[in-house]
Amino acid sequence: MSELRSSDVVVIGAGVVGAACAHFAVRAGLSVTVLDRGPVAGGTTGAGEGNLLVSDKDPGPELTLALLSLRLWSELALERHDFEYEAKGGLIVARGAAEAVTATATAAAQRTCGVTAHVVGPDELHAYEPHLARGLAGGTYYPQDAQVQPALAAAALLRTGARVRTGVTVTGFLRGRADRVVGVRTTHGDLTAGAVVNAAGTWAGEVAALARVPLPILPRRGFVLVTEPLPALVRHKVYAAAYSADVASDDARLASSAVVEGTPSGPILIGASRERVGFERSFPVPVLRRLAAQAIELFPILADASIIRAYQGFRPYCPDHLPVLGPDPRAPGLLHACGHEGAGVGLAPATGLLIAQALTGDAPEFDPTPFDPTRFAEVPA
Ligand SMILES: Cc1cc2nc3c(=O)[nH]c(=O)nc-3n(C[C@H](O)[C@H](O)[C@H](O)COP(=O)(O)OP(=O)(O)OC[C@H]3O[C@@H](n4cnc5c(N)ncnc54)[C@H](O)[C@@H]3O)c2cc1C
Repeated sequence: MSELRSSDVVVIGAGVVGAACAHFAVRAGLSVTVLDRGPVAGGTTGAGEGNLLVSDKDPGPELTLALLSLRLWSELALERHDFEYEAKGGLIVARGAAEAVTATATAAAQRTCGVTAHVVGPDELHAYEPHLARGLAGGTYYPQDAQVQPALAAAALLRTGARVRTGVTVTGFLRGRADRVVGVRTTHGDLTAGAVVNAAGTWAGEVAALARVPLPILPRRGFVLVTEPLPALVRHKVYAAAYSADVASDDARLASSAVVEGTPSGPILIGASRERVGFERSFPVPVLRRLAAQAIELFPILADASIIRAYQGFRPYCPDHLPVLGPDPRAPGLLHACGHEGAGVGLAPATGLLIAQALTGDAPEFDPTPFDPTRFAEVPA
């Protein structure tokens, strides 16, 4: 016998994206059940950092989504204080003249879209970050960049009215008239629903396949180093200009560039590596060493810090670096909210709002066409 009660909406995945979808659907007056085979934030959300960035995004649909999300995160932080929201700002650092020129041009383009970006001369850098290396070529400061603790943020979003069932794996879809998706099959029985949201992160392609629709979501591995708790040595999110190119790259091989940030509890987080090696879970020491060396290049004072742990996660990568959002006409009743790669925490609230608007039939906050789930139909396998 099924232990599950039907609801207007079933969300598959209790990561930050599923939590945001549930939150905004509940706010729109819908009853919502969130299912996860593991714990809340047990997927990539629990293995990521919590940067909410506009700085690393070029003008385009992802930046529009990020700007809306930043506004929504700051509004949520006024309502709740349980997810370590910090409006700390981001500093991109250029190591040479060429990087400084590119960073300045990027900032000018972003400003036309509503991003606030201040060019920082080489002699001003240390007023922002006193412990930065000497001899850097300058940078750009982005006051809108912020940070949350991702697992706490997912839990906070789920605490606002959705029913949450952990330890429940979705194994298939219930289909009704005209092959409409009318619920899910799970390890704990069937659950009917008016609509189902696929927020299964890096596993969203596998969940979509259960509904017989293809979605090209692939894992993109990343490591994070965590230092011992330190006094506030790093005030902002600070990263090398090369990071944005790594994010945008299609190369499956290892790419890494320094990303350094403090946390409210003291440890400094050091990233960021990217590589497409499937769900390979080994811990290659040369990659960890490279991350540490790049961070020390930016902040020489870190040479004396101890690393207390390192962890890895698998970002939900899409070939065109855009998330997959909205109803899937190939399986009416099924919506997708996945494929956010390295920006799912940042983009979660805007994703949740767009999904809630699609569920209620309200006009979308902005045109979601670039995120259309069927856009990959012509992508060669
Ligand atoms: C090293 C690293 C650093 C990162 N840093 C940042 C950052 O600073 N800022 C940022 O915005 N993003 C960052 N990210 C990316 C971010 O973590 C992800 O984009 C985001 O967490 C994706 O959230 P999600 O809810 O879509 O997926 P997940 O958190 O993976 O949630 C999906 C859930 O679906 C569940 N699930 C899957 N299949 C099933 C099934 N069949 N039945 C039931 N449940 C199922 C899983 O158990 C999982 O809990 C980083 C990622 C990594 C790896």
